[in-house]
This record gives sequence, structure tokens and C-alpha cells, in this order.
Amino acid sequence: MVNQNAYQLGANRSCIRDLFEYGRQRAAIVGEENVYDYSLGNPSIPSPPQVDEAVRQILLDTPTLQVHGYTSAVGDLATQQAIADDLNQRYNAGCRAEDFFIGCGAAPELVAVFRALAVPEGELLAIAPYFPEYKPFAEEAGLIFKVVPPDVPEFQIKLDAVEAMLTPNTQAVLVNSPNNPSGVVYTRQTLRALAELLTRKSEEYGHPIYIISDEPYRELAYGVEVPFVPTIYPHTIVCYSYSKSLSLPGERIGYVYVPQAAADSREIYAAVAGAARSAGHVCAPSLWQKVIARCAQLRPDLDAYDRNRRALYEGLTEMGYEMAKPDGAFYLFIKAPGGDANAFSEKAKKRDLLLVPGDGFGCPGYFRICYCVSYDMIQRSLPVFRALLND
Ligand code: PLP
Repeated sequence: MVNQNAYQLGANRSCIRDLFEYGRQRAAIVGEENVYDYSLGNPSIPSPPQVDEAVRQILLDTPTLQVHGYTSAVGDLATQQAIADDLNQRYNAGCRAEDFFIGCGAAPELVAVFRALAVPEGELLAIAPYFPEYKPFAEEAGLIFKVVPPDVPEFQIKLDAVEAMLTPNTQAVLVNSPNNPSGVVYTRQTLRALAELLTRKSEEYGHPIYIISDEPYRELAYGVEVPFVPTIYPHTIVCYSYSKSLSLPGERIGYVYVPQAAADSREIYAAVAGAARSAGHVCAPSLWQKVIARCAQLRPDLDAYDRNRRALYEGLTEMGYEMAKPDGAFYLFIKAPGGDANAFSEKAKKRDLLLVPGDGFGCPGYFRICYCVSYDMIQRSLPVFRALLND
């Protein structure tokens, strides 16, 4: 006998993975250059050269046993300190080394935070459109997962809908900015209004409602501010990842930050560490912790993404496609012509153009494009987008 929830999750690939695998099969038949695969968010710019250089240096100047040994369960102090110093320099955030739990990327960090906040009847509010994995993460952790409807067409946050969905059981509101899949960056004004609402409702209910800020795309913004949420709302728990910012998704490294100013900060921190422990997820990769200790201040060179973003946004808008302004991450979230994103995506698939329908993101009627692809592929795909409009 097997656990049915686990079985269903393992046996059924996500729609994104399905499309990606389909693209690989088609490429083998029609040729790589004839498939326009916008399915998967795998970074397409290399890590900054200092990252590889740091790996080389660490291997040269650190005893092998130290490079590959267990670190402290919550992470190396040097790594925690380097991250705290970087955030303090950028945001004057008052971070301390001991506020950081070094984790294996945003996914397991979110799981740990959800488990840490999962009290009986506890509810988690996600804002549509949202990263599809949130739902299984939250439900497996024991939280009731609720979705706030999207704020179309800007994809900021519908505050009246948030307010209507808050209850005395709400443990946290989950935000993700820059956003996957919309590419939208929540403005300071939006976040301030959310903070005011949560402050008021926390007082009314007599317990804090946390913001969980999922920030793998924090450094991927094109000329707009990405506010650091804990400086706007102290009861914020940050899940950060170097998967996208330093193009290291295969290395599994990131952190949870529980600000000192958050309500019950040390209890939350201990519960995150405990939740990670009971999930068997402690001691993030030692080599990569050492790399981050040396590279926490590095930022990606976004020129290639920005060029792709502009080519698609301008090209598609001019054809008549509608989308919110994509100021961050590497996604566009586009209104499906005709209104049915599944039908449109199927039609596109017949032309080997792979687009992810928005249903899984809690937002039917839209499809997602992931533009961490070659500029050349974008240029070749534009006529296909045009042809689809004329179909
Ligand atoms: N959160 C969002 C919004 C994401 O898009 C992703 C990955 O694509 C993750 C979390 C998981 O990131 P990681 O690779 O750090 O586990």
C-alpha cells in the first residue's frame, strides 16, 4: 500500500513538465530549431563568473573534510553573516546572522515555513496567479489553502478580496513578487496597503497574521523597485533562493529569514528549523554555503533577459496580445485570444509553440510564457504568434 496523496503527486507530472517533455520529443522529430518551447523556468544566463571562481578557490584553499562535511543544522555562521551584511547594506534592514536558516532553495524552505505555521484549522491565503506547487506544499503541511482571486488586468493584489477572505484562522498571506507567472512586481503602495490591512486584522483577531514572502526572483527586476517586504511589514517571513538570481537551480541553496521584529520571532525560527528537521531537510550543501559566504553581494547581469522581455512584450503587444507590464522575473502572462487558454495552448502546440495555460496558476483564460530562452528562438517564434491570431 502507498500513500495516495504522495502517489498522485509522483505519478502525475505537472502540466509544465508534460509540455517540456513533449517539446523534447518534438525536437527529436522536427529539429530543435522548429520547436518554440516557452514552458520551463530554467535560467538561461550563466552564473556570474565569480561564482565558479569561488568554487575553484574553496576547493583549493579549504581542507576537503571541511568542504564536504556537515555544517551546523541551520547553516554556517559565515554564510548567515554574509547574507545579513548584504541585506543590511541594501535595505538597512537590521538583520542578524542568527535570523537566517540556510535552506535548500525556496521549495523546501516554503514547506518548512508552512509546517511551522500549520496549527489546527490554520489557513493560508495565496494570491492568484500563484506558483502551482504552493497548493500541495501547503496541504501536505496541514494548512487550508485558499486562493484570493486575481486583480486583472494589472495583477497587483485585490485588497477587498483579501479582506473578505481573512478569518480568525488565517495564519499567513503568501506573496510572490516579482511574480511567477505574471512577471508583475508588487508596488510599495500595494504592499503598504496589504500591511495596513493585516495590521488591522491582526489586532482584531488578537494574533499576528504573517506575510510569507517567496522571493526567488527578487534580483530579477527591470528598472523598477522591488521593496524588501520586512521593511514594510515586520511580521514577514522571507523564503529566498539563489536558483534564479545566481542561476544555480541545480545546486539547491537559499535561506529563510525570520526578522527579529516579527511577532514570536525566535519561536517561529525554532519551528522552521524543527519543521525542516522533521522533513529531513537540514544542513544545506556545504560547498554552496561557502560559495554564498563569498558571493552574497553578487547580482545577475540581466541584459539578455531584458532584451528577450522587450522583444516579446513589444512584439506581442503590437500584434494585439494583452498582458500586464512584465517588470520582473522572466515570465509574461498573456490573455488568451478567444478566452480559452487551454484551447489556445492546444492550437499553439500544433505549431510546436509551447505555452502553459493559466489554470494551474489559479487564473484560467491566460497563458504563461517563460522567456529564459534564446533571443533567436523568440525572433523565429513571433510569426507563429501572429499566425495563431489569424487562425
Ligand atoms: N517559488 C516560485 C515562485 C518559483 O517560481 C520557484 C521555482 O520556479 C520556486 C518557488 C522554487 O524555487 P527553488 O528552485 O529555489 O526551490
